[in-house]
Formats: sequence, structure tokens, C-alpha cells
Amino acid sequence: MSQERVKKAIADKKMICPECKKPVQKYEKYQDLVGQVWDGAGDSFGSPAGSKVTLTCGNDGCEWKERTEYWENYIAD
Ligand SMILES: [Zn+2]
Repeated sequence: MSQERVKKAIADKKMICPECKKPVQKYEKYQDLVGQVWDGAGDSFGSPAGSKVTLTCGNDGCEWKERTEYWENYIAD
């Protein structure tokens, strides 16, 4: 997953605010998270790096804002 996906979801109005159910207007502080260090005890594919982003609803009368790494949950496909 990448910043392009966040950007596109917002541009396409598919990033939905959980409070007012309207499209989220913007995001900021996109950050790629470093994957967990493989400890040698398991398979090395178990901990893919994610990304964290601050979503701001921005619609009238809604103050919803969240910093999350589970932003994909807000994308309605
Ligand atoms: Zn909202």
C-alpha cells in the first residue's frame, strides 16, 4: 500500500469519514512504517511494513481527525 492509494481514494471520494459518512477531504503526514525486524524464529514474510497517515474529515460541522495505520478500513470500494 502506498501514498498514491491514499491520495487516489481521497480524490475519488472513496475515503469515508466514520462520523458523518461523507468523503474525507484531506490527509497529511504520510509515513511509511518500517517492518518489524525478523527475529530468525519464523518466516520472514509475516510482518509487512505498513504506513500511517493523518486523515482530516474537513466537512462542515465535522471535527473528525485520526492518525491511523488502518486507513484502508475507511476506503469504500
Ligand atoms: Zn466527517
